[in-house]
Amino acid sequence: MKGASLAERIREQARADAAELGSIGLATVLVGDDPASHVYVSKKHEAALAAGIESIDRRLSAETSQEELVAVLDELNADDAVDGILVQLPLPDQIDAEVVLRAVDPIKDVDGFHPFNAGRLYAGQPTFVPATALGIMVMLEDYGVELTGARAVIVGRSTIVGKPVAHLLLGANATVTICHSRTRELGVETGAADVLVVAIGRPGLVTPDMVKEGAAVVDVGITRTDAGLVGDVAPDVAERAGFLTPVPGGVGPMTIAMLLSNTVKAARYRRELLAFP
Ligand code: NDP
Repeated sequence: MKGASLAERIREQARADAAELGSIGLATVLVGDDPASHVYVSKKHEAALAAGIESIDRRLSAETSQEELVAVLDELNADDAVDGILVQLPLPDQIDAEVVLRAVDPIKDVDGFHPFNAGRLYAGQPTFVPATALGIMVMLEDYGVELTGARAVIVGRSTIVGKPVAHLLLGANATVTICHSRTRELGVETGAADVLVVAIGRPGLVTPDMVKEGAAVVDVGITRTDAGLVGDVAPDVAERAGFLTPVPGGVGPMTIAMLLSNTVKAARYRRELLAFP
């Protein structure tokens, strides 16, 4: 189950939509020197530019205070040329991420982390949905994976991946189980899954004996090792699963593609081509 070619189609669609909508702006805010965050932000900029979306790149020092960061967000909220805003996580310790995410105007919240947009997803009326969760759903749909009545098991309960994907799968009428570090007999839970989504950040934790024959397995995990990027699912699970997303080249490219499509959505909301609740 590859993400790269599907992601390219979505990026192509975003490019066509952006051209139709005229000038669209995506602002990213990066605080500090985390090397992985720098790589992610650069990739988002490249993708936005390739789609004809203007990138506004705000980089702040690791010593930035919460008040200074909120002031930058206020400025971007008020800037009519900015349709979407994302704050790259994690933030330095002196900054409370909850406060910062609440400071983004919900209509520009292309990451879907503002409590308003998270609440809409919880209520089953999604507006902006976190890009990784959205990308997983688009991949499952593209591969024709049946979700209605399917047993879906998610390992990981973060607000960035595990919880939003659980809500989307529930909305698609799957029977959903969420597992985490305190789950007893993880292999028994995962072994019952028709659809298994793994988002934990522990390389190779899911092994073939934990997977049902023919299951659709989505590996969200990304860990940097000397051998390159590795996922949470051992590669030999591919021999047992019906589908398995590769790492790299699976969920990662889909996340960036869905960020572009969320930015196009923000532009539509802001131009009142779509009603924002
Ligand atoms: P978090 O660290 O926020 O959450 C990890 C989750 O995994 C927690 O819910 C934790 O449980 C659970 N967990 C940890 N160890 C175990 C275990 N041994 N058994 C079962 N559950 C366990 O991570 P994220 O959700 O932010 O990211 C998860 C992974 O996905 C990372 O590798 C990250 O790099 C990757 N990622 C990839 C993206 C992409 O675009 N492909 C995008 C975002 C993330 P508990 O809550 O009990 O602590």
